[in-house]
Amino acid sequence: MLYRHFAYRAAEEVVKRFPGKDVYIVEAGATPSGKIHLGNFNDVIISDAVLKALRNLGYNSNGFLVIDSRDPFRQPPIFAPKEFIRESENYLGKPFIEIPDPWGCHENYAEHFVDPVEKNMDKYGVEIGIKWAQEIHGNPVFIKLLLRLIDERKRVIEIYNDVRRRAGHLNLYPEDWIPFRPQCKKCGRIDESVEIIGLTDKYKVKYRCRSCGNIGIADIEKMEGKPPWRIDWPLRWIALDVSFEPLGKDHMASGSGYEMGCSLLRKFFGREPPIPVFYDFVYWVEKNNGKKVLKFSKRKGVGLGIDEWLKYAPPEVLRFQILRRDVSNIFSEALSHWDFDITQIPQYVQSFDKFEETYFNIVERAIDQVKNQVIVDTYLLSV
Ligand SMILES: [Zn+2]
Ligand SMILES: [Zn+2]
Repeated sequence: MLYRHFAYRAAEEVVKRFPGKDVYIVEAGATPSGKIHLGNFNDVIISDAVLKALRNLGYNSNGFLVIDSRDPFRQPPIFAPKEFIRESENYLGKPFIEIPDPWGCHENYAEHFVDPVEKNMDKYGVEIGIKWAQEIHGNPVFIKLLLRLIDERKRVIEIYNDVRRRAGHLNLYPEDWIPFRPQCKKCGRIDESVEIIGLTDKYKVKYRCRSCGNIGIADIEKMEGKPPWRIDWPLRWIALDVSFEPLGKDHMASGSGYEMGCSLLRKFFGREPPIPVFYDFVYWVEKNNGKKVLKFSKRKGVGLGIDEWLKYAPPEVLRFQILRRDVSNIFSEALSHWDFDITQIPQYVQSFDKFEETYFNIVERAIDQVKNQVIVDTYLLSV
């Protein structure tokens, strides 16, 4: 059998799981809590590769990079202006789109970090578009789905606790859990400091804000708050009709958000969850005083932005670095990690050039096309 690039194998699984769709939607995600870096771009490039594979196989495909713009702000990036850091306590727990841009050059905090991604996706040949959480949360289809979960929350709790129990977790969802996070009308917080007291009406929750002391009512039908992310994410799959999504390898663990989402889709909605491709992360390597390996960090600003990469190397080299990895089984293995070393960029470029040469050799001399299909796929998905 022809062994193809993992994006093609994922695309084939997508079609097998969701036969006969007019259009296949792929999803990627990013939280605009700080500088969106190369590591976060894994998600985008992998999704885009599957979109291209689907199209090359003759199917219609579209995709979204979903921005978690309504997630709560928790900590200022250490590279933010001092003045912002000083006043950042006032912004804690508020949605990223409702707090100011620390540098003052964009409408809000979220846009500041998304803008360099949005402006440069084209240059990387990415064909998926940006979708903001506020658009999704304001979508009547999404709200309707959430209301169903509110109505039948006992079943949701059962389904989620079942996953947790099987994974050996001791902390279970309480019987009176309401899958909603109200936003405090007085101070704007949307995080766990806003506690639900109870439902006062079918879709209205009374809350107490531990931060400002306000007691108020949030209307779920008007989305005066948001679902917790373990609910938000699977509802997004349905509302956007997602068939594929790449996932960090932490989601392979039993009891993960992905497993809970899968369980909710299958048991509650009778729908199949998206096909995954798991990946390990990109690490930042410094070799000044002995080898130092750091995790990329949006908050610390560790990691190159995708706009910054273009100052050093062409976009196809980054696509290639992400897509050259392989797994033989997309369901049980993760694409390996990448120790990114900024001083090695010339070598990354060189290895791409060499790969390109190999590709042209194979194609021009028509050698072993079948055996070399992965090389052909990888090259064509990179350029
Ligand atoms: Zn800005
Ligand atoms: Zn408050």
